[in-house]
Amino acid sequence: MCCLCQPEVLPEERAFFRENCPERMIKTRGPDAHFALAMKKGCGSCVFLSDGKRKCQVYDHRTAYCRQYPFHLYLSDRVKVELDMSCRGVWTGNGTDAMAEAKDIVAKADRRIVSTLRESRAVYSQFYANCKEAGILSDQSILRMSVSENLSNFADLGYLSKVMELSQMEPVMSLSGVQKEVRPDMPELEIAARESALDSMATNDPLNAPVYCDPEWNWNVFMAKDENIVWNILTDSGDLVQKGSAEASEIPLKPLEEDGAKVLADYIRILNGRDSFMGSVFSLIDYNDYEDDMANAYYGCLSVTVLDLMWRASMLDHFTKCGMGAKGIQEAVIFYDMDRLDAPAIGAFV
Ligand code: SF4
Repeated sequence: MCCLCQPEVLPEERAFFRENCPERMIKTRGPDAHFALAMKKGCGSCVFLSDGKRKCQVYDHRTAYCRQYPFHLYLSDRVKVELDMSCRGVWTGNGTDAMAEAKDIVAKADRRIVSTLRESRAVYSQFYANCKEAGILSDQSILRMSVSENLSNFADLGYLSKVMELSQMEPVMSLSGVQKEVRPDMPELEIAARESALDSMATNDPLNAPVYCDPEWNWNVFMAKDENIVWNILTDSGDLVQKGSAEASEIPLKPLEEDGAKVLADYIRILNGRDSFMGSVFSLIDYNDYEDDMANAYYGCLSVTVLDLMWRASMLDHFTKCGMGAKGIQEAVIFYDMDRLDAPAIGAFV
């Protein structure tokens, strides 16, 4: 999975690639132009991943980004190391101690962290000042605590529907006393869920489309045009082979089984603890000109995120028959989390 994410080549890593294979290091375009390793046919895996066996051909010289995966560093007014749940290895529980490894990554990236933290702290203080001026500032720890007390509620469609409604109606909402809707408006929920999920699939560039690495290690790429979803397999040589397609409106939001809801509640706990998730909510507040209260924005965003995930689980079940139990929801999280960690946020990724 990590070898599908074009790794940046840091200044101190460039000499090796320049001397040995200069044509395999490219300069990316756009506002954050940087050096990176080339991808097969411009959209497949990294050029150094061997076909078939999937071994790194420059393992001793792989970039810091390659070494760091599945950890992501997120900088706000502090440093947070977040674990990418799209990595199948994370779910086996067979790796080394994650906390020790995270600390080691922070120590090794010390110089980069110090300089980036200076920038992200300035962005955060400006953001807090803007919120204060607009009268929408909330205590983040209280928001998180209220969600922690309602983890299993957030895995329930009736509760999500009510929270979404209140986040739009109330000037400053609170989760205390929120009652689930007994008969939620399913067509409305399905539209919200589908729109959010289709948004990330609406691309014809496989490099930007969400990838799901399945239990057989196939790279499944989903791309949507209008409401039509095309299911492709990305081959080791960088070609796309179509495996199926479906109209999004033909895929209903399927109910979760009891053990599936437990896996989802666990993932909501992870999201609730992530600074990058909070940063994505802040980014939305900034985008909407500080009109929404922070509590409304946080609970509303979390509800849409969970709905998006539930719809993707329904879509995976439609194509792969993985079900809506613990196994199916685990696969949906594996599919979803890379996208989540890539979401626009205030702050910085290192
Ligand atoms: S350099 Fe090696 S580890 Fe890094 S992305 Fe390429 S193949 Fe994967």
